[in-house]
Amino acid sequence: MAEPLFRRLALIGIGLIGSSIARVNRERGGLAAEIVATARTEKTRARVAELGIVDRIEADPVAAVAGADCVILCTPVGTFRALAEQIGPHLSQGAILSDVGSTKQSVIRDVTPHIPQGVHFVPGHPLAGTEYSGPDAGFASLFDGRFTLLTPLPETDPAAVERMAEFWRRCGSMVEVMDAGHHDRVLAIVSHLPHLIAFTICGTADDLADESRQQVLKYAASGFRDFTRIAASDPEMWRDVFLNNREALLEMLARFMEDAQAMARAVRWGDAAYIEDKIQRGRRIRKSLIELKQA
Ligand code: NAP
Repeated sequence: MAEPLFRRLALIGIGLIGSSIARVNRERGGLAAEIVATARTEKTRARVAELGIVDRIEADPVAAVAGADCVILCTPVGTFRALAEQIGPHLSQGAILSDVGSTKQSVIRDVTPHIPQGVHFVPGHPLAGTEYSGPDAGFASLFDGRFTLLTPLPETDPAAVERMAEFWRRCGSMVEVMDAGHHDRVLAIVSHLPHLIAFTICGTADDLADESRQQVLKYAASGFRDFTRIAASDPEMWRDVFLNNREALLEMLARFMEDAQAMARAVRWGDAAYIEDKIQRGRRIRKSLIELKQA
């Protein structure tokens, strides 16, 4: 394997995503000569030490970033503003600060004001995940064949962007660079709205009378099951995603509700052609996903 890209990598937060990065380095090498991580609770810190996936685990983010030439924020996006304020003054000259947050405009808004001159900020988002969280949920192949999107600012040093691109390629990802606003709109439709629908439909089913609720669980294999898998995702992470991609999410939700109304009208009036056309479209989208190996 090539020389490690960084001397010391600090992972602020080590749940599903952070621990997967740490495992890539343990199992394949090439990312960093040393990894220091932080977690909020003693329980997670003890578990990470037990797993032996990093070189050092700290409670204090300031201690973790000291001497690091790369720092990646891997906590829920709602924590980024306070974290950036806390670690900003302690970042090393020439270091890269990055993140894995699921929203990008809010991250740029919250983090940029706290970055000192001489530190390169390269926001990122690996489009890889599961409904599980915590350091036990991670695995080294999580990013294989998945896209990672980088959303640098126009003034970001291209060499720093290229280093992070190489970092993610070594994690197994395909890397693309895009504008943060574009990222947020695309993710609102492909990820944030589907999660909103899944959380909502589970609530709707749960609100039904006791007897029907039991029937829902018993016959869940008919389609409901797939929604419950998505709805099992981490509440803090998703609360923060919804609150930090508010405009794009509300826009996509409004469009979805219009289309759902149109479908309801077709059902009411027995418009079989309309219904069939929409189902055919769904099938075509699924087929394209399989062809692109993103299913
Ligand atoms: P996770 O498994 O729940 O881990 C979160 C980590 O952050 C844990 O180490 C946790 O420490 C720490 N943390 C949580 N709340 C904190 C707070 N208020 N202050 C300080 N530390 C805190 O989360 P994840 O799935 O890895 O997600 C991390 C980031 O990746 C999020 O920004 C998310 O948007 C993004 N992301 C997630 C996915 C996905 O599918 N899960 C995919 C792509 C990107 P404790 O364990 O001690 O609480």
